[in-house]
Amino acid sequence: MSNNALTDRQIQEAISFHGHSCPGLAYGLRVAEYALREFGHSGDEEIVAITETDMCAVDAIQSLVGCSFGKGNLLYHDTGKVAFTFYRRSDGKSRRVVRKPERTTAAGEENKTLMRKKADQGLTEAEAKRLAILREMRMKEIMTADFEDLFSVKESALALPRHARIVDTLVCERCGEPVMETRTRRSGGAVLCIPCFEAEDRRA
Ligand SMILES: [Zn+2]
Ligand SMILES: [Zn+2]
Repeated sequence: MSNNALTDRQIQEAISFHGHSCPGLAYGLRVAEYALREFGHSGDEEIVAITETDMCAVDAIQSLVGCSFGKGNLLYHDTGKVAFTFYRRSDGKSRRVVRKPERTTAAGEENKTLMRKKADQGLTEAEAKRLAILREMRMKEIMTADFEDLFSVKESALALPRHARIVDTLVCERCGEPVMETRTRRSGGAVLCIPCFEAEDRRA
């Protein structure tokens, strides 16, 4: 894994955060490399990221760029795309990075077939070995490709999100569990959490 600005240590950090190394994480590593170069590392909340995927790639952003769900500077807009928007509060700079379609290759098709078989019925030992080799090859390709061949960089379409807000906590009048005010619903004058509200709704 060379030809990019991430150190081996950073790559190892992301792999141990994510739990395994995989092509999805490799895409995320390339985005993290881009974000660190163009926007810098977010010690506190100065960089905000929107992720459009909740799959492997986002873990590279969480582990290396300093944008994470717990800190409130990583937001999830579920479009099912490997796409990330970065904002820098100090100067308003923002960009959206979107994965380009992958070229269809024989190795790619073989990989897909084996992944599907793995999920459906499991693989033989030989097939599992072959799949591991294919995935390793794909990861190397992703890590060494020109960034422009993997991703398009576009103007961001969304406005800068506001700072993580401090919200009140209310207690659900049905289950008694404390819940953020912004996630409560009202039903016949009672303050309910969403699961209780939906359960009431189903009964009605
Ligand atoms: Zn993964
Ligand atoms: Zn409740």
